[in-house]
Amino acid sequence: QVAAPLPVLGHDVLVPLVTGGQVPYAALDYAASAPALRRVWDDVAAYAPYYGSVHRGAGHLSQLSTELFENSRATVGEFLGCRPGDEVVFTRSTTDSLNLLAAVLPPGTRVFAFESEHHAALLPWGRRADTAVTWLDAPRSPERAVEALERALAAREPYGPALVCVTGASNVTGELWPVRELAAAAHAHGARIVLDAAQLVPHQAVDVTALDVDWVAFSGHKLYAPFGAGVLAGRTDWLRRAEPYLAGGGATRRVARGAAGEPVVEWHETVARHEAGSPNVIGAYAIASACRALTAAGPGRLAAREQALLARLRAGLAEVPGVREISLFGADAPRVGVVSFVVDGWNSSHFAAALSAEYGIGVRDGLFCAHPLVRALLAENSGGAAGECGAPDEAPAASAIRVSFGVGTPEEHIDRFVRAAGELVTRGARWTYRTEGGRCVP
Ligand code: PMP
Repeated sequence: QVAAPLPVLGHDVLVPLVTGGQVPYAALDYAASAPALRRVWDDVAAYAPYYGSVHRGAGHLSQLSTELFENSRATVGEFLGCRPGDEVVFTRSTTDSLNLLAAVLPPGTRVFAFESEHHAALLPWGRRADTAVTWLDAPRSPERAVEALERALAAREPYGPALVCVTGASNVTGELWPVRELAAAAHAHGARIVLDAAQLVPHQAVDVTALDVDWVAFSGHKLYAPFGAGVLAGRTDWLRRAEPYLAGGGATRRVARGAAGEPVVEWHETVARHEAGSPNVIGAYAIASACRALTAAGPGRLAAREQALLARLRAGLAEVPGVREISLFGADAPRVGVVSFVVDGWNSSHFAAALSAEYGIGVRDGLFCAHPLVRALLAENSGGAAGECGAPDEAPAASAIRVSFGVGTPEEHIDRFVRAAGELVTRGARWTYRTEGGRCVP
């Protein structure tokens, strides 16, 4: 039995079907961007007409905006269970948050990340000449992840500052990572750890204190808020010591012209140091609104509902001939509402295009910005899935299909998806699909 969904935007959108008529759109691509909660839009709409500049103006609207911005920071810190002294920096996204952290690493830091991470968690590191990065093999179980990390940290040369970057839930398989154990391993070896919570925080309560991670990063647009705002929350020492990520107004305490015409700049010591320029107040306010709405709804209740939908989805997919779910830790590993698969004899892009054009279902196909992981999983799951529609090929599939969902997903969307997948596989697509300008079209 699945409880009623929370209202989200997007589900009342009608999409034209190639086969005629219109159907309500089934958004099953939450892992890319989740539809915003109606409550969030309402909060933003109520505030938007009144906003003013933050931290600058003496006017009433500036004061109101400054208060809302700083209150949003406090709400997010509370939502994440931050420790006293932790700070919340508003960024543009998870990608931006992790790049900010990469910019403030102490010289000589070596970063460790599993190759199974999203590119946002793989690529920011080691770009500075005074830092380095090591990618670890994708582990085949949570226990092996901890062992591999311990081995790598113990063997590092020289034994200098180190940072571990790890995902909370995979954006490819939805599988949960042993964050608390990895944090303990990192700390036991004198390393710090940042949690990429982009896929975890929309599905489960994340508590920085309980997990004992040093930082957490996530994006508003996956947490039922609009695009353009993200968060890096956690320890302040590295952030306060480093050169500002962005140089400009708001990051400085004092700017003057020296005797020889040189700039004399004193940077702020608080988070403001890394928030130069006029901030995205509406984005920050929207994230805080989403945090409040999720807390009020009860994260445990939402997660239980999601798990019921996940079980329904996976049981349905298991009945569809030729569907192979891809996973790193195995079919029984705990996961959030994200499932990726290939279909024997099908080009994944065509399958996804047919779901959209013939059933009004939006999923994602591709390598999901996690090329090393998805390529490896495709190679071991190739059942001749690379061919054009209906024409099996011996080569490994070139991409996978991902279904993801969360708050507000009605049962009907899951059932429609399972029915559609079954019909496509057994009856074939009604249309033929071709790739045109990088898009798959009927
Ligand atoms: N990490 C993970 C696990 C993700 O799923 C994503 C988004 N797909 C990101 C990081 C990057 O998020 P953003 O594009 O919002 O920066």
